[in-house]
Amino acid sequence: MAGPIRTTCPYCGVGCGVLATPQADGSVAIAGDPEHPANYGRLCSKGSALAETISLEGRQLHPMIGGVRVSWSDALDAAADRLGGIIAEHGPDAVALYGSGQLLTEDYYVANKLMKGFIGTANIDTNSRLCMASSVAGHKRAFGSDTVPGTYEDLELADLVVLVGSNLAWCHPVLYQRILAARDARPDLRIVVIDPRRTNCAETADLHLPIAPDGDVALFSGLFAHLSNAGVFDARYVADHTTGISDALDAADDWTISRVAEATGLSTADVALFFDMFTATEKVVTVYSQGVNQSTSGTDKVNAILNCHLATGRIGRPGMGPFSITGQPNAMGGREVGGLANMLAAHMDFDDADRVARFWEAPAIAKKPGLKAVDMFDAIGEGRIRAVWIMATNPVVSLPDADGARRALADCDTVIVSDMFATTDTARMADIFLPAAGWGEKSGTVTNSERRISRQRAFRPIPGEARPDWWIICQIAQRLGFKGFDYTSPAEIFAEHAELSGFENRGSRDFDISALADRDYEKLAPAQWPVPRSGIGRARFFGSGGFFTPDGKARILPLAPPPPKDRGPGQLILNTGRVRDHWHTMTRTGRTPRLSAHYAEPFAEIHPDDAERLSIRRTQLVRLENAYGAAIVRALVTDRQQKGSIFVPMHWTGETAVTGRVNALLGPFTDPVSGQPALKMGRVSATPV
Ligand code: SF4
Repeated sequence: MAGPIRTTCPYCGVGCGVLATPQADGSVAIAGDPEHPANYGRLCSKGSALAETISLEGRQLHPMIGGVRVSWSDALDAAADRLGGIIAEHGPDAVALYGSGQLLTEDYYVANKLMKGFIGTANIDTNSRLCMASSVAGHKRAFGSDTVPGTYEDLELADLVVLVGSNLAWCHPVLYQRILAARDARPDLRIVVIDPRRTNCAETADLHLPIAPDGDVALFSGLFAHLSNAGVFDARYVADHTTGISDALDAADDWTISRVAEATGLSTADVALFFDMFTATEKVVTVYSQGVNQSTSGTDKVNAILNCHLATGRIGRPGMGPFSITGQPNAMGGREVGGLANMLAAHMDFDDADRVARFWEAPAIAKKPGLKAVDMFDAIGEGRIRAVWIMATNPVVSLPDADGARRALADCDTVIVSDMFATTDTARMADIFLPAAGWGEKSGTVTNSERRISRQRAFRPIPGEARPDWWIICQIAQRLGFKGFDYTSPAEIFAEHAELSGFENRGSRDFDISALADRDYEKLAPAQWPVPRSGIGRARFFGSGGFFTPDGKARILPLAPPPPKDRGPGQLILNTGRVRDHWHTMTRTGRTPRLSAHYAEPFAEIHPDDAERLSIRRTQLVRLENAYGAAIVRALVTDRQQKGSIFVPMHWTGETAVTGRVNALLGPFTDPVSGQPALKMGRVSATPV
């Protein structure tokens, strides 16, 4: 029997190391990798059940056109013909690619190179837009670069961990286990949870602030003013390494504790206690994820948090800093290759287009940003985009106004889908289906939330005629007549990506992994970037300034909290999120009964007072409805939920409009800076069925 193969978990952004040991009967034994710095051997319920999700049942293992099996050459010819024909007739912006944080960096790299360098459009966006685009935008506004300043170890070294809009216990469980273990060893470590719901994290926290939806900018503006009044701003750090403090203070000046309490629905005592804890504790890490990012004020929320850390100099030192945790296993890798419509490659922007074109020898480099996810699907619906290629994601379930996304694909001239399964809501809309290899079958790299690049390795043969995504992309690129896509392995792609990161980099950008191009790809050990050829790597950024803005200083921004949300007559505020044992639209986790045992069906958490007012009984089916769509879910009556709002997990899908497909109830509203949809803010009526 073969020994264990080192790989990583395909689920969340913690990026746990996994040991996969193929068994004689064709199954695989899964264990946490004790040597991986993300998890040191731990796995959560999802990671532990990975072996149960890799059967071939339901897999689509042959290409199809119009639902009919065809050869690879016919499928690739057809895809290239349709893309090429539309580009020739309507221009490059008439085609689009919508990818996924599930893609490996090598897949992402060639997809981005094809679209932005050779086809000549930046219409390539991914479901990472739904996940952490506001963090990217906030980082770039403040730091001049999309840089996560800290490392997981900081969460264990901190004396205060503040979790904002993050149910880490369920969504990034191993990281939460690390924090709890640190608190067990050092009981002085305190945890504050800021979340409208009483989540699992809230139940284990020292303080829970059940904030009103989108109250975060007001809360952190008040904290900013309080830190100033308390005299804990770091005058030297602010003077040497930041700009904008005066304007930011003017904007925050009115945010007294009582005004913050009014705007956030919190008690003045709780607000004061939180402010005092933050003020008195130098080693503080503020962790945030989708509750911050998925909002029409998501980027401002991020900057409100960054302001507090920058003004106190609590950044980039052990146990201190703001910390964005990404949802997906390779959202960070996607950011690194520029797999978003408003980025180019290797953390370069479009004003670096000539530099990237020189490196790629690209004939048609895109010079301006493309359409972000929600705008992209609007353009598909309006016929401005005539062909879309969707890879490893299920936007008919996960996009806001999910019914609108379905209608857009139904009306699109050409829908190409690369996926493991032809039965997802999106794959069913495909004109051309390309069967992709999955986790355990293909090889590449991923980057986790602490900037750590790890190898994902194959431990079983690729079944049927499935192929790795990078191969599929390169085949179509070659059929479109482009040179520079004749790679024979992911190792060659990674080496090129690493070279590009160091190409003409004279310290103007953070992402430089050029030294990894010289290492043995097969033996590549987890490495935290930067890993430059010249200079040294580092675990943390910005402890001594060194920001990537033109003047090298961080921007502390003046911010205006959004007006309070009103529910609308008779409606409840809809909040969405995840459960512990499912991942995204359940195409993988839905295959194991063990994981479905935690929650077996879609549900809505509703406060007992609202349930009584609306005549909804415990466990009764409830119809949720608004102008965008409808869903039917089971009522879970609980005071974990705030009065006036309702929580529904986003995982469930279905064939008809009336199912647990909750994103069908969310409007296509986005943050004006990041373009990230407000997936945690809808308004619905709820009636018993
Ligand atoms: Fe996988 Fe995330 Fe669980 Fe780690 S914490 S095992 S990466 S799902």
